[in-house]
Amino acid sequence: MNVHGACHCGRITYEAEVDPESVGVCNCTDCQMLTGSAFRVSVPAASTHFRLLSGQPKTYIKTADSGAKRRHAFCPTCGTPVYACAATDAPPSFSLRVGCLKERAALPPKRQIWCRSALAWVKTIGEIPGRDGQ
Ligand SMILES: [Zn+2]
Ligand SMILES: [Zn+2]
Repeated sequence: MNVHGACHCGRITYEAEVDPESVGVCNCTDCQMLTGSAFRVSVPAASTHFRLLSGQPKTYIKTADSGAKRRHAFCPTCGTPVYACAATDAPPSFSLRVGCLKERAALPPKRQIWCRSALAWVKTIGEIPGRDGQ
């Protein structure tokens, strides 16, 4: 699927080719903090299928507990996370944030990882009273 991404302020735009079957939720505590939310939803794109169209993300390298280094890219103006990748010169793939993709409604997650770290209420979010709008 061809997808079109943008940060919240619109300076960074990109497009990529992704497999809708590889959308995943990560419940790890790093993702909770990096998103400022309960979990991260992402989909990988091969680097040959990722094109930055405008803007230049700022990057930050995080060393995980495992010792693996990941480069996190975000918009320097609005802070929107754009992608994460291996902290190497030629990363093989980019993990795109599904919430930044125009086609996000057509990209439901197919699996979850780090479920042990998941916030308990995430499992029952459908039961929380809700309405459309504030
Ligand atoms: Zn921005
Ligand atoms: Zn994570």
